[in-house]
Amino acid sequence: DVLNTKGKSFEDLNLKRELLMGIFEAGFEKPSPIQEESIPMALAGRDILARAKNGTGKTASFVIPSLQLVKPKVPKTQALILVPTRELALQTSQVVRTLGKHLGINCMVTTGGTNLTDDVMRLNEPVHILVGTPGRVLDLASRSVADFSECPLFVMDEADKMLSREFKNVIEQILSFFPKNRQTLLFSATFPYAVKSFMDKHLTKPYEINLMDELTLRGISQFYAFVEEKQKLHCLNTLFSKLQINQSIIFCNSTNRVELLAKKITELGYSCYYSHAKMPQLARNKVFHEFRQGKVRNLVCSDLLTRGIDVQAVNVVINFDFPKSAETYLHRIGRSGRFGHLGLAINLMSWNDRYSLYQIEQELGTEIKPIPAVIDKSLY
Ligand code: ADP
Ligand code: MG
Repeated sequence: DVLNTKGKSFEDLNLKRELLMGIFEAGFEKPSPIQEESIPMALAGRDILARAKNGTGKTASFVIPSLQLVKPKVPKTQALILVPTRELALQTSQVVRTLGKHLGINCMVTTGGTNLTDDVMRLNEPVHILVGTPGRVLDLASRSVADFSECPLFVMDEADKMLSREFKNVIEQILSFFPKNRQTLLFSATFPYAVKSFMDKHLTKPYEINLMDELTLRGISQFYAFVEEKQKLHCLNTLFSKLQINQSIIFCNSTNRVELLAKKITELGYSCYYSHAKMPQLARNKVFHEFRQGKVRNLVCSDLLTRGIDVQAVNVVINFDFPKSAETYLHRIGRSGRFGHLGLAINLMSWNDRYSLYQIEQELGTEIKPIPAVIDKSLY
């Protein structure tokens, strides 16, 4: 359960009493993991880059610190929250209002598609927190209607989207109105190159939070080799003879290939089971059960088996076929290195897969290196 934490309560976070009231009235009982990690760091003044899956409470992760840091008595804009769409701006401002209900903080939404003059009028009143979409915010800043020259907090939700080509320039321009020593919080579900380069350029010693899943790639050494289709089996044979495999899972992209490969591995003299979606459930259960018990060393399978599998003895995962998406890659590779164990991932790639390789590295913020002649046993 993504909203389940073992640790802290909201009371432990040293929040203003009025803010706590708003949080509890919203029905939040305990901080979600992303909130538990990001709120204290944000309150300590750190820049943050946070990644977490959808629906894990990212909004409150930046709204709560914003509400805590804003001084209601100071009649100035003290936080800007940028989001990519109008709907999201409205929704986010609603969270600000709900959680900040008892704080006397004024929050305003500003998006394209509404009357600019109205927004200009409304900014005559002090606005503590401004929530908006990039185009309109830049417009207001350029006209000196919105003043960010002393605004201490810059927040960007959906950062991957915000730093796509569509918005990137606008974001840079908006930032130029901010003081250098502002605090910057970025929230994103993926971590493409654009986010990384923005982070390197604009964030100061960012605290990085990565809660994409129970799966992370930490502790897993990842390698690739370009191998022609005809050479793949030979290459696998070499890997089997060189690596110290405790247990391995070998992934193929189709059920046919799963069966074929399993047959060939058996012919090579290695113990091997296979499993794929077209097999009867009972047979699959039996295979999985016996693999778990360690009765067989290697398992060849298709993607149907990737999610949720937790066999701690698996120290090597081999992509005999390279997966088509970062998500699949993450789920496959996450089969090794469970619960802090180390793991090894080897990708046999065709030349055509080279673009996917780059993309997956960017998206997952990870590094897949060319395979060395000898792989140090201490890595897995
Ligand atoms: P994300 O931005 O990560 O996709 P949201 O911020 O939209 O997630 O939150 C998803 C849902 O979880 C919302 O309905 C929100 O009200 C709820 N929620 C967030 N934090 C908590 C919490 N600590 N306790 C209970 N519900 C929460
Ligand atoms: Mg969100």
